[in-house]
Amino acid sequence: MGSIVTEASRGAREFDLIARIRQRAGKRDDVVLGIGDDAALLRVPPGELLVVATDTLNRGVHFPDDTAPADIGWKALAVNLSDLAAMGARPAWCTLSLSLPDGDAAWVDAFLDGFLELAARHDVALVGGDTTRGPLSVCVTAHGFVAPDAVMRRDAARAGDDVWISGHLGDAAAALVQWRAGAAVDPALRARLDRPEPRVALGQALAGVVHACIDVSDGLLADLGHVCAASAVGAEIDLDALPASPALRDSFAGDARRHAQATGGDDYELCFTAASSAHEEVMARATSIGVAVTRVGRIVPGNGVRALLSDGTAWAPTAAGYMHFA
Ligand code: ADP
Ligand code: MG
Repeated sequence: MGSIVTEASRGAREFDLIARIRQRAGKRDDVVLGIGDDAALLRVPPGELLVVATDTLNRGVHFPDDTAPADIGWKALAVNLSDLAAMGARPAWCTLSLSLPDGDAAWVDAFLDGFLELAARHDVALVGGDTTRGPLSVCVTAHGFVAPDAVMRRDAARAGDDVWISGHLGDAAAALVQWRAGAAVDPALRARLDRPEPRVALGQALAGVVHACIDVSDGLLADLGHVCAASAVGAEIDLDALPASPALRDSFAGDARRHAQATGGDDYELCFTAASSAHEEVMARATSIGVAVTRVGRIVPGNGVRALLSDGTAWAPTAAGYMHFA
């Protein structure tokens, strides 16, 4: 898009940066025309739905100030691939909107190291974007495909379903707690904050057996709450059944751990519901791709999410997930 600043004063730098990005962007056969024209031309497989997700990362809000550019690049794409995974989609393309305080080419190169490393792992082609001057902000849109009968939606949970979670919860939130306190941050926890692993293979593997699915970005209670609201059901979570990493167990216990696991954000694990009769099938599919999944609760009639301690009493967090503008 043009601006009231003239092309000349905008300088050649923006175009230098775009040229660097273009040179390194991955390729796919279904990209008829990628970076370089006014818009990309892309081929969607016949019979499949196009799945589109957008997420923005802002400095200070979505990542600590000291985050390495390569990690920002990784995370900017990861959070979008996580959204596609939660829909059961197979990722294909992405666009990248960069707002940069200055046209620092070395920063962009380092950013691309992380961004394109993750893109290559999932065979995602960068097909376009925008490059502007402004406060550091990264907006990525990811595109993927899903067969109409393989979609996992938030509104499909049913009373009686089991609630499952992939991997383990709370590491990223725990890293943030340590970072905010100015304490030494456990490297294993920090790695989970900086380089979340989008559950792309799991999302596709679960299609057909799972009812509802969401990725955990704002905290389990908040995100499962979205599923419950959309599905007009309630849920009960067994707090002490939530899977915790060794690093989290080492440094967090009791309510501090419960908070990180139930209300912390940034895990990018999949939370999904399935009929209890599908228990073996869920386990088999997750095992076949090498991802741990844990049954952590159940969908019940009613509304809202209740977190239960092992003695069956309800536990109330002091904050239910991260809220912008709260
Ligand atoms: P326009 O003025 O038509 O929007 P731009 O100069 O913004 O053109 O972009 C030129 C080309 O470079 C387009 O194909 C656009 O998608 C691509 N592009 C711009 N910035 C980025 C970026 N950060 N990442 C990937 N592609 C980009
Ligand atoms: Mg543009």
